Amino acid sequence: MSFPRPTIRWYARLRASLFILLHGAALVAPFCVPITGEAVGLCVLFYFVRMFGVTAAYHRYFAHRTYKTSRWFQFVLAWIGCSAMQKGPLWWAAHHREHHKHSDQADDPHSPIVRTVWWAHVGWVLSGRYTTAPIMKDFAHYPELRWLDRYFTWLPGVMLAGLCYLLAGWSGVVWGFLVSTVLLYHGTFLVNSACHLFGTRRYHTNDQSRNCWWAALLTMGEGWHNNHHHYQSCARQGFKWWEIDLSYYILRLLGRIGLVWDIREPTPKALANRLITPPPTTEPGH
Ligand SMILES: [Zn+2]
Ligand SMILES: [Zn+2]
Repeated sequence: MSFPRPTIRWYARLRASLFILLHGAALVAPFCVPITGEAVGLCVLFYFVRMFGVTAAYHRYFAHRTYKTSRWFQFVLAWIGCSAMQKGPLWWAAHHREHHKHSDQADDPHSPIVRTVWWAHVGWVLSGRYTTAPIMKDFAHYPELRWLDRYFTWLPGVMLAGLCYLLAGWSGVVWGFLVSTVLLYHGTFLVNSACHLFGTRRYHTNDQSRNCWWAALLTMGEGWHNNHHHYQSCARQGFKWWEIDLSYYILRLLGRIGLVWDIREPTPKALANRLITPPPTTEPGH
């Protein structure tokens, strides 16, 4: 096993403490401000906007390059992803590539099979063992991405908190930023924990990835994780019409207006390859 040692212990502890404090604040603060429809609306809105930043930007673009875009929109995607407060795009994508490279093997940073559910869900982030990441050769030459990833990962989140204040006062900050951010953490983390434990497997893969419908709803399509492990280089993760994949639908819309292009689709050959059981003759609901 090659679990890296914590690089700077005090820094890891500080980050872990802030993470725990944020959770405490998200539990207590809602009782200290009025609950308004506006504030709860911001909570839902910024949960999904930022989930899109994690799934469509950090995951499907930076980690897997499943579509193309311009340099300025690439930065917009990185900024939205960063506002989820889950570190920078280069750090996130580099570790995700490690996950696919060693999926459910000893060197997987967050396998619930090799280690525990807690480790896969959040322990690996808090451990301080993954503060540095392998260099992303394909994106590291963009100075604006290095700048965001290295020095200013906090800035999009802080600006979002400010926007929430302008839109709905302290209720907006508490619900639109604080509660929304904590829910977003655990929504995202479900892909690493639950989606290697719960759900069904359609394809033979060298890991325990699963298609988990409820995780897919909470993560805008990322829950179709066995599909994704089977065919990582396509932008679409819900392969059947009933496998709701909101991130993919939005990417198609962005493609229509020319903001992204070359959106990679699953090929018929890949869809049929390595199936665990032959395809059913009738689809659910038919
Ligand atoms: Zn992936
Ligand atoms: Zn996985």
